[in-house]
Amino acid sequence: MRPLTATINLSHLKDNYQFLKQQHGGKTYAVIKADAYGHGAVSCARALESEADGFIVAFLEEAQELRAAGIEADIVLLEGVFEASEYAEIERLNLSCVIQNEKQLQEFLQYSWKKPVCVWLKMDTGMRRAGFFPQDYVKAHQQLAQHSAVREIVKITHFSRADELSSDWTQHQTAIFDQTCAHLSGLTSLANSAGILAHSATHRDIGRAGIALYGISPFEDTQDFSGNLKPVMTLTSQIFGVRTLRAGESLGYGAIFTAQQDMRIGLLACGYADGYPRVPSNDNPVWIDGKQSRVIGRVSMDMMMVELNAPTQNIGSSVELWGEHISVAEIARRSGTISYEVLCHVKRAHKQWI
Ligand SMILES: *Cc1c(COP(=O)(O)O)cnc(C)c1O
Repeated sequence: MRPLTATINLSHLKDNYQFLKQQHGGKTYAVIKADAYGHGAVSCARALESEADGFIVAFLEEAQELRAAGIEADIVLLEGVFEASEYAEIERLNLSCVIQNEKQLQEFLQYSWKKPVCVWLKMDTGMRRAGFFPQDYVKAHQQLAQHSAVREIVKITHFSRADELSSDWTQHQTAIFDQTCAHLSGLTSLANSAGILAHSATHRDIGRAGIALYGISPFEDTQDFSGNLKPVMTLTSQIFGVRTLRAGESLGYGAIFTAQQDMRIGLLACGYADGYPRVPSNDNPVWIDGKQSRVIGRVSMDMMMVELNAPTQNIGSSVELWGEHISVAEIARRSGTISYEVLCHVKRAHKQWI
């Protein structure tokens, strides 16, 4: 078997959940959309089921997968439905859905509900992506509150800059939300990971913990607030070829690396088709047998090359691409993106949950 493995440490996941729940107070839902940010939604949900207050996914098919696997906790669909017919499935599977626009609202009101249902009504407080504008929100809330099938309304908004500690935009969004909701009944859910960790004024009835659950800081410019998080995914592969590159010789596609002196190099079973970023390739850190080393040459589809800097590093040596020693945030930063994207892109790796 090809030795590329994403090891998912479920006890770290549970510890992170407990830490975030304690930071937030009240209830905290675990955000496991996009296959739990690449960590395996069903396995993560099973690991958290006895402690999590509920789960959050993006859309119906993601929730169906969890119900099919026997997950019974509350599950919220962040995007809500795409067509009216999906409400029947929401009812059958006991799901909670976000309503974020007039079409979803009207279709919800017209559906003949046979069971009580919980809705999350989304306000746009400044992300300007989805949700009712404050001036339309009160009316939507009233329509739902008067509907006989609505068991509970959770008022929700989402922050666009909570990960930027020097910005006061989160405060601004929170103030708009609070003004609009002053006389509206129901629970409130504001905080994402960054809100949970750094903005205590956003801690309300239900927190929504995503990236931090996986042990990754949502903040680019600081590790403050995140000291207690433990990385959940470790991506490792093995060296399966070793050779010597002579001084002056160039390596791989585009010859973007040239040896300054003779050096041993290792060939690793992992490439961009596995989700490892192709840019910038050269100089990305890796961890080989207890020592930091680096990627050299361009990452190709199925393979990449690394510098070997100890005689013990040989065929069969295990190489950590990220996890405990190499931060996925650093890999993401170097390739001009965020950990969320890098984690979601992992594929073809053998996943192992411990
Ligand atoms: C993805 C998402 C979250 C989780 O965000 P993190 O930054 O990963 O904690 C919370 N709320 C909404 C609406 C989301 O789309």
